[in-house]
Amino acid sequence: MPTNPVLVVHGGAWAIPDDMVEAHLRGVRNALAAGWRVLEHGGPSLDAVEESVAVMEDDETFDAGRGSFLNRDGRVQMDALIMDGATLRAGGVGCVERIANPVRAARKILSESPHVYFVGEGAEKFAAEHGIRLCRNEDLVIPREVERLREYQSHLEEHRADLFAPTISHDTVGAVALDRDGNIAAATSTGGTLNKAPGRLGDSSLIGCGCYANNESAAASTTGWGEPIMKLVLAKWAADRVEAGNLPEWVAKEAMNYLKQRVNGHGGMILLDSEGHFGIAHNTPRMAWAFRSLESQEAGIDRNR
Ligand code: ASP
Repeated sequence: MPTNPVLVVHGGAWAIPDDMVEAHLRGVRNALAAGWRVLEHGGPSLDAVEESVAVMEDDETFDAGRGSFLNRDGRVQMDALIMDGATLRAGGVGCVERIANPVRAARKILSESPHVYFVGEGAEKFAAEHGIRLCRNEDLVIPREVERLREYQSHLEEHRADLFAPTISHDTVGAVALDRDGNIAAATSTGGTLNKAPGRLGDSSLIGCGCYANNESAAASTTGWGEPIMKLVLAKWAADRVEAGNLPEWVAKEAMNYLKQRVNGHGGMILLDSEGHFGIAHNTPRMAWAFRSLESQEAGIDRNR
């Protein structure tokens, strides 16, 4: 009996300003459509999450690919991970600067390397050797982000005090999917946090922190302030609770409570098990999300109401 496919995507959790809501909704809907095209034709969940995430990397609305936040030196530096719940194979890249779609490089690592994780120039070299065209870092920088960094750096002290300020956005993108064969997968891609120190790596591309997939437990993708999420290994924390018999919907909410209570962290999570149960939760004012199954399809910027 084939399984009914399910796809859930997110485009970051933060105080998304009203004038950016439409762009976020459009972005997650486009990502959903791309991943769903794979799943409805019986394609693997791994391909579906790759396609969904690549669409959001191409969309300047999000902090991934072109349009990513700039680091302290004004450069784009990106991290991504993709993981296959059937085999536990994973591919990750960290601190890459010349790859427009880091998720595609991560996928190449998963499929074509005995290694799991590449960083910096080594990751770019691997990508180029496996058919991924390298770009210039300037190609990924857009005027909006140059201005955002300038504004942020000129008000550093004020920003430190208010992590939910509209300028402190968390626009990382991610997807989790279940395919007709009953396999789940997850992918997460990010430009990291605004004004980060060069070489800083967040949760997004670390296995079990910002991304995880195991058919025996769950597939998860997180977004938000990466350092607290890393400390709790939050994606794996959530997957373990699903494996113990809890519903993803409940676990995702619990993960957000745990993040807040234990390390005063904020963010959001999408979580999906291999029976198609899923959860979407955030402890930020808003989070861009969308899901699709055979029965229904929905997108929103608030899951708490
Ligand atoms: N979690 C990401 C990081 O800390 C940022 C985000 O989700 O927007 O790198």
